[in-house]
Amino acid sequence: MGRRSDRTLAFPVAFGDTRHDLSIAPQDLGWDPDWEKAFEPFAARGWQPARLIRETPINFSALLLDGTEVDVVLAGKVWHEAASDAELPAVGDWVAVELGGDNEDHVIRARLPRRSCFSRKVPGKSVEEQVIGANVDVIAVVTDPGPDHNPRRMERYFTLINRSGARAVVLVNKSDAFPAEQCAAAAEELRALSDEAEIHVTSALSGDGLEVLKSHLDPGTTMCIVGSSGVGKSTLVNQLHGEEWQWTSEVNEVTGKGRHTTTTRELVLLPGGGILIDNPGIREVQMWTDEQTLRESFSDIEEIAAECRFHDCKHGSDAGCAIRAALEEGRLEVGRLESFLRLDEEIEVLRRRAKKRQITTERRAKRAHRVKARNLEDRIDIEREERGEWR
Ligand code: GDP
Ligand code: ZN
Repeated sequence: MGRRSDRTLAFPVAFGDTRHDLSIAPQDLGWDPDWEKAFEPFAARGWQPARLIRETPINFSALLLDGTEVDVVLAGKVWHEAASDAELPAVGDWVAVELGGDNEDHVIRARLPRRSCFSRKVPGKSVEEQVIGANVDVIAVVTDPGPDHNPRRMERYFTLINRSGARAVVLVNKSDAFPAEQCAAAAEELRALSDEAEIHVTSALSGDGLEVLKSHLDPGTTMCIVGSSGVGKSTLVNQLHGEEWQWTSEVNEVTGKGRHTTTTRELVLLPGGGILIDNPGIREVQMWTDEQTLRESFSDIEEIAAECRFHDCKHGSDAGCAIRAALEEGRLEVGRLESFLRLDEEIEVLRRRAKKRQITTERRAKRAHRVKARNLEDRIDIEREERGEWR
């Protein structure tokens, strides 16, 4: 499927902790003529394109087009020029790497502009944005028809996905454990929330619906799987690998913690084609969005509100309120309006908090990434600037 034998190369690909020899072409990594074009100015400087596949607290791992996996560090200039954490290279990004000689670091000199970026607000009171995956084509949200079913939360996912530039695919999983009518009703309720999202009923246990997931995983396509704990994400991923591959349940015997932490994200090439950004960190997605996206996600409500007599209608007891009329006529659900009003409030709070904490956030984010900029000259630069900043 789409593999060009003339550029096929054999190289080891990391699956968790084991290595397999696979034949992979650059386009299996997502490389295409548009990326090649975007890379031309960097190629002219002798730099190599590479896709970031793993992030650790001290560096990144990347795959070069010839299939070599290399450790890379961030150039001080890239670090300097990033206005926030979200602008720094992340898993999924294509970067320009200057390969070092013996005993020299390979250095990320630039990041190519992203086609899409899936991010969320860091849990807690912080306003930092955390990039889950860059250049993600498809985001699969896994849920179930029972305890996890929550249209209001799904709306948040749709808002984030909508903003990311990726396609949304929802899997209402565990169909084997619930009555068929309940599965169909849950799927229908989610379908009503989004025109763009695909909604499927699946059973990871029986393998039902796996074809749906695979149909979105052409070679070179990057997917991210998210959803609450216990809905069946690891089961699905293990099925995709076609072998027992521990995704989240592997426990480090020393620390008692899972192998994956929130700071380590991995990009994995699937044997059947397609690329998975493994992201077990997500439990509850929190809002990180803006008014623009909110309005787009609730365009139906916006359209109705445009008919309100007063421009600043609060949709309460105001005269001539079209929203109230729509509720009474059953054209609009109370729950949907409530969630619209609540999201609006949250965004307002976020915006206020963001303003107040912007400077602190930038400093903290940059400090966290400073360690990745290990080139000596870069380091000196950074430290010089830091002394100025913190004077
Ligand atoms: P994760 O936390 O989202 O990665 O969820 P897991 O894949 O670890 O699954 C949590 C539990 O649900 C496990 O006991 C799975 O065996 C079970 N499970 C996963 N998918 C299905 C399914 O389609 N049907 C049923 N009945 N159980 C499932
Ligand atoms: Zn109104």
